[in-house]
Formats: sequence, C-alpha cells, structure tokens
Amino acid sequence: MTEVQLQEFKLDPDSELRFEVESKNEKVVLEVKSGYAELFGTELVKGKPYEFHTGAKVAVFTWHGCTVELRGRTEVSYVAKETPMVVYLNVHAALEQQRVAAEQENTRGPVTMIVGPGDVGKSTLTRILLNYAVRMGRRPIYVDLDVGQGQISVPGTIGALLVERPASIEEGFSQQAPLVYHFGHKSPEENLELYNTIVSRLAEVVAERCENNKKETDSASTSGVIINTCGWIKHAGYKMLTHAAQAFEVDVILVLDNERLYNELKRDMPKFVKVVYLPKSGGVVERSTAARAEVRDARIREYFYGKRTPYYPHSFDVKFSDLKIYKVGAPSLPDSCMPLGMRAEDALTKLVAVQPSAALAHRLLAVTLAAGPDDDVLASNLAGLVTVTAVDMERQTLTILSPQPRPLPNTILLLSELQYMDNH
Ligand code: ATP
Repeated sequence: MTEVQLQEFKLDPDSELRFEVESKNEKVVLEVKSGYAELFGTELVKGKPYEFHTGAKVAVFTWHGCTVELRGRTEVSYVAKETPMVVYLNVHAALEQQRVAAEQENTRGPVTMIVGPGDVGKSTLTRILLNYAVRMGRRPIYVDLDVGQGQISVPGTIGALLVERPASIEEGFSQQAPLVYHFGHKSPEENLELYNTIVSRLAEVVAERCENNKKETDSASTSGVIINTCGWIKHAGYKMLTHAAQAFEVDVILVLDNERLYNELKRDMPKFVKVVYLPKSGGVVERSTAARAEVRDARIREYFYGKRTPYYPHSFDVKFSDLKIYKVGAPSLPDSCMPLGMRAEDALTKLVAVQPSAALAHRLLAVTLAAGPDDDVLASNLAGLVTVTAVDMERQTLTILSPQPRPLPNTILLLSELQYMDNH
C-alpha cells in the first residue's frame, strides 16, 4: 500500500498554490480548510474534496488568504506570491464595463480574442475570464479555435458553447449543445483554406445567435464572446489569426507574453480594435510533444467515456454499403489545370469519397447534419463524433463506438486524421 502524503499550506492574500500530479495512476485530493480560494476562476467550496489525476497542472489562487490541504503524491507543490491575477482581474473589469455599455446602448458585448505562443496560458486565461463573467450573472459565448486541444468536443474540431455556469473544477465547462465544426487535423497548417472556411462559418453562426439573442432580456449578446486560439503565431499562423480576428469582428485582442506579436497586431489591426499586452503566469507549465499527445488522447477518451461522471458509449457494426465517408481536400492541381473560374485552393475544401478499408481502424469520424454530399457539408455543424474500433474486411463491416445508440441512416461522415485506441 502506498502511503498517503498529507500537506497543508497557508496562503497569504494574492498568492497561489501550484501543484502537478505526474506519476502514473496517482490521485491528489484538494480541500480548502478555511478562507476562500478559486481554481482558474471557479470558487472552491470549503470542506469539499476535489480530485486531480495524472497530468493535472493546477493553481489554487486566493484573494483574501486561505488554508489548503493536499492528500496524495504531488510531483511539485509550492506557493507563489507573484501572479498576474490582478492584471487579469482588471481585464475582466474592463470587459464588464463594455458589457454594461452594450446593455445601455443595446449593442453587442465585447468580442475578445486571446493569442500568444504555445504554453503561455491562453486556455487558462479564457477559462478565468469566462468564469468571472458568469459569476457576474453574464452568459458569454466561449469559442475554441485551438484544433490541437479541442476543449469543446475533441481535437481536430473547432466550436462554440454558451457558458451559463462556472466551469466545474474537475470537468470544465458543461458541454451542453455545443456548436462544432470538423477540421480533421491537429494543426491549422495542414489545411489553411479549410481552417479559414470553418472559422468564417463559425463566426457567422455565432454572430447570428448573438443577434437573435438581442431580444431576450438577460441576453447572451451583451455578454460578448471569448475566443481561445492556437499557439501558431508566425508567418501563415499570423495570417490565420488576423483572419479569425476579422471573421469574428473582434473588439479586443489579449496578447500573452509575446511582444513581437503584440506589435504586429497593433500595426495591422484597425484602430477600433484594442490590442492589449499581458504577462503570462510563472506557473504555466511547458508541455512536450508527448505530453500534448497524451492530453489530446485523454480529451478523446473523456468525450466517449466522461471524466468524473461516466458516460456509456454504444458499440455496433455498420455495413460498408451503409456508410458514406468522405475526407476533405483533394490533391491540389496548378491553377492552369483547373476548370475555368476555379482556384487551386478550392480543391482543399472539396469532399472526396473514401472507400472503407483496414486503414480506417481507430480513426475518428465526424457525424455531420448535412443531408447529402452536395449539401454544404462543411458549413453544417456536427451531430457528434464516432470512432472506428475494428474493421472486418471479410464481413465488410466497421465496428463503431458512438455516444449515440445508432447513427442516422444516410449520414455523411467526415474522416479525421486523429486516432483513438479504445482500450477502455
Ligand atoms: P497551448 O499552447 O496548448 O495553446 P496554452 O497557452 O493555452 O497552451 P494552458 O493550456 O492555459 O496554455 O496552460 C498550460 C498548462 O499550464 C495547463 O496544464 C494549465 O493547467 C497549467 N497552468 C496554467 N496556469 C497555471 C498556474 N498559474 N499554475 C500552475 N499551472 C498552470
């Protein structure tokens, strides 16, 4: 039996306890004994045990001081007095002022985009600002354009979610009725044309929803939008960010920890866009490629099996002849070989039929809501995702793991490059 380690920390006001759970199959339980504390913007309930598992990198922050207990083996645990939380709170206060102004003038609330290189805490700041907004009674829209992490749905997708409650400490934001679009790769670099197409589409739908919500009293439209992006910021990555900024008609860009990016955006953005430089937290942990792959895998596992609350996915066989699988992007030809009026880039958003084969094993398939391949498939949001757990070439069937009992007949499935080994 492993010995359970018990550690108690007394935190002064404006300080945070940082810890990591690294060793395999470790579990650490956190409990606030006295005072008040929050975790990435969500208030912790005194005396309630919260569990963290392998890979968790956590900060418990307190504005007024508190005592916290940790049970279990942590890889690292220390108290930091220097944090950028006051600066982040000021950003929240400024956004809140804009929401109040939007309410008075019946206009839309602030659309904020968070940018910066990898591992600077973009996702964490997104979560903090969303949490602070809902704690003030707002209903902001959370947009995640980071296909590498895919915190709404799974990696390889982008999406949006109306946030009505603070993120749960262990499970994040409630995933009810997200709006999700298929990309199919873990980096926008793999198909920029497709990436920009779905970003524009998502922006259009989010803007429409805000417009429709204007009529409601406590409207989501005055609460605004907070957009998380991926850490690819150079060359084409920069163009991709400016495209997203334009598509969502952002009002504020928060640049984390990169002066060059800050200056470029200041130079290139229209004057009405506020570009703000923010420091990163010293607590943000750099992740290796292997660690990122693990997080991606865990995210997909959670999609099918749940985290704290278990989900029970369905497994069933589907005949090859009943499947309509496509991938997005035909090999691109030079412009001179294209039919009149078509650009070479158009090929990158074309649907190409995929014949079922053994190569489909472990791949994710996006289930679209499109009626047929001639429908605007890319513009249709996803019903969800399934994964291929086995291919039987003899019987000509695929075994599918799905959150739903059975996919709708005639569904258009889009093939993702991402894989998931189901060894649950
Ligand atoms: P990416 O490059 O994937 O876009 P990012 O910039 O969004 O990364 P985050 O995912 O927010 O970065 O943070 C990286 C890791 O650091 C996460 O595991 C997060 O939980 C952890 N982290 C963030 N802030 C702190 C902190 N103050 N103390 C300890 N850990 C932290």
